[in-house]
Amino acid sequence: MSAPEKSHLFYQSRQRRPVLDQAKGVYMWDVDGKRYLDGSSGAMVCNIGHSNPRVLEAMRRQMEKSTFGYRLHFETEPAEKLAAKTAGLAPEGLDKVFFVSGGSEAVESAIKLARQNAVAIGEAQRTRIISREPSYHGCTLGALALTGYAPLTAPFEPMMRPMPKIPAPRAYLDGLDPDDEATGFHYADMLEEKILNEGPETILAFIVEPVGGASTGALVPPRGYMRRIREICTRYGVLLIHDEVMSGGGRTGKFFAADHWDAEPDILVISKGFAAGYVPLGAMVAHKDIVTNVLDAGGFLHGFTYAGNPLACAAGLAVLEEIEREGLCRNAENTGALLKSELEKLMARYPIIGDVRGKGLLLAFELVEDRTDMRPLPKELNAYNQLVDIAYDNGLIIYSRRTRGGYRGDHFLIAPPMTSTPDHVAEIIEGLDLSLRQFLDRMSQ
Ligand code: PLP
Repeated sequence: MSAPEKSHLFYQSRQRRPVLDQAKGVYMWDVDGKRYLDGSSGAMVCNIGHSNPRVLEAMRRQMEKSTFGYRLHFETEPAEKLAAKTAGLAPEGLDKVFFVSGGSEAVESAIKLARQNAVAIGEAQRTRIISREPSYHGCTLGALALTGYAPLTAPFEPMMRPMPKIPAPRAYLDGLDPDDEATGFHYADMLEEKILNEGPETILAFIVEPVGGASTGALVPPRGYMRRIREICTRYGVLLIHDEVMSGGGRTGKFFAADHWDAEPDILVISKGFAAGYVPLGAMVAHKDIVTNVLDAGGFLHGFTYAGNPLACAAGLAVLEEIEREGLCRNAENTGALLKSELEKLMARYPIIGDVRGKGLLLAFELVEDRTDMRPLPKELNAYNQLVDIAYDNGLIIYSRRTRGGYRGDHFLIAPPMTSTPDHVAEIIEGLDLSLRQFLDRMSQ
């Protein structure tokens, strides 16, 4: 099938793309036979690569048994097994799993569980959740209220309850050393200041992406940051929510990104890599005491029709087994280290690259006008779209955002599947090198 003259699909304003024919491993082909290396795993989703035969077989087996069983009518084996496996991967105490079908649903679930917990323990005045700027937590109105990115939230502000924000710890922009604990404390202490200014008794939770996603471009917290925010949350009875929708699932080199710092939240949310795009799936994993509080007070007033369906859970289970069997977290760590060092070599050759960051195979680079003061490229250049389109024409898919302080700053996520090899790394770097050259040529015309 070629692209129809008139499409009835309605997404965002993005230009139309070729029609996808098939995908296997790290590659995708359009209907004209052109091959693309999926350098961003879709939107950091297809962590185990496309069309994994063992996952497809597990899905086929489940489809032959049942594809849907409503969670209020039946328990299902895949849901039980996946919940047990997920709880086993989560920090101690977080052993209650609530399935959903995506990241925004998972964040909504965390918001509501936190709120019902506060009501259950007699702290009903806690109604606000602190988040970071920039950040992305989803597109539904609750999750959007936590999202720190004005271009996405502005039209909806009058419909949402304002939620307090603190700056994300972008040490590279502030000229601070991320390896110095003082830097981590500097940013973490902004949380304490915010809690005190807002009134600790009104704050329900703090939500944080342990390794940032599209909003910050794979921002890694400075040393000491994760420990300090945990201490601050505990001090004020504020629940700590880790949004691992993108960073969870192994691509940073650990199944949960927060495991790099042994950081323990009260609630965490995961999606994207959880079922790696084979089916829509996400989960909220909560501390058992919180769940007990809410259930004892009458029950959780929340749930989605498709949540925990046996097909989605069977796929999720097969994905987790694949990650374990193939040692994909380790591969993400090793291949990610190689890819990062190759990106740094590109940075040495292209002064337009101002920063390379990230962990494992959740990596990013940022384009700047001037590296000395990290001045962003002019907005009119539309670099974040231009470079993505050039790379796309060159058969390399990368993911971009322009989020620095609203419409300032262009960063590009490089996050191929966790099955990537050194050969794939070489191909990505070659594609980026060519695309950057063509981008600079265009700029100079
Ligand atoms: N939270 C984070 C950190 C994300 O990166 C995303 C999506 O990119 C979401 C939440 C929302 O997930 P979804 O698009 O599946 O609703």
